[in-house]
Amino acid sequence: MSFTLVIHGGAGNVTPAIMNADLEKQYTAGLKEALDSGYALLEKGGSSLDAVVAAISTLEDNPLFNAGRGAVFTKKGLNEMDASIMDGSNLAAGAIAGVRNIKNPIQLAKEVMIHSGHVLLSGSGAVEFAINQGMTMTPDEYFFNQLRYDQWVDIRDTNYTQLDHKGDNLKGHVPNPEYKFGTVGAVACDAKGNLAAGTSTGGMTNKRFGRIGDSPIVGAGTYANNNTCAISCTGHGEYFLRAVVAYDVSCLMEYKGLSLHDACNTVIKDKLVKMGGEGGLIAVDAKGNFDFCFNSAGMYRGMRNSEGKEEVAFYG
Ligand code: ASP
Repeated sequence: MSFTLVIHGGAGNVTPAIMNADLEKQYTAGLKEALDSGYALLEKGGSSLDAVVAAISTLEDNPLFNAGRGAVFTKKGLNEMDASIMDGSNLAAGAIAGVRNIKNPIQLAKEVMIHSGHVLLSGSGAVEFAINQGMTMTPDEYFFNQLRYDQWVDIRDTNYTQLDHKGDNLKGHVPNPEYKFGTVGAVACDAKGNLAAGTSTGGMTNKRFGRIGDSPIVGAGTYANNNTCAISCTGHGEYFLRAVVAYDVSCLMEYKGLSLHDACNTVIKDKLVKMGGEGGLIAVDAKGNFDFCFNSAGMYRGMRNSEGKEEVAFYG
């Protein structure tokens, strides 16, 4: 049986105009490193679930991305992270929201799935659970990143939130040509045909009131079902929540018999566009078909499969 790993590092206004040769090199290396860490497990016969956790953990450790170490700052100057994971073989899922000082949020989401008896834990309760499980905790300084800090300083005295992707055409968001990208995700199909999906993010710069986006919400930002597909989303979370994006792709396959590609296109390039939602997703099905789909200028993305195909790309 073949196996496939697909990853993203955020969608948005990713164009050559905001990149340079050095940044392209850094992003390429970061995405390749994540692909290699997940693929190494699939190659040894490992599960799609473990490959997704490995790939996302690598991206969380890389300050280029808005997840884990590179998480953006909240209105209070903190780093609050969201993550979710789903196992397509049994529809088990785990998620955490608004959690601080966790080195690898995706690993905590997996712990929640396996050991908590719950699906979604939030805030200090999730941290208490993490400590009980012996997870690696990290001090605030670990999450300090000058670029993210400067992004926040620009708008901390306003009530604007800044989506990591793009600020200039989103209602209620401040324009900022320096916006950066970076929610991360992975989907995989292993040699047994089992699917898994995961997503991890710092959310939005200057977010208030415990704002949570789509990333930790099963069905919106993440979904996996062996009978249909595994999906991880990135984009303007409020729209992805309302459109229940990841589950909608699965539903179009399950109830309407659409192919993976057509289901992704219908949701991202038609339904979401009509609502005004910007972003994209990565997808894989149990036959190893994969898709990158976005309605924004670009998406940091990559894939590697057992047919020897390997790809890293940014632009549309
Ligand atoms: N979807 C994430 C959120 O709204 C952000 C992102 O994808 O960058 O929290």
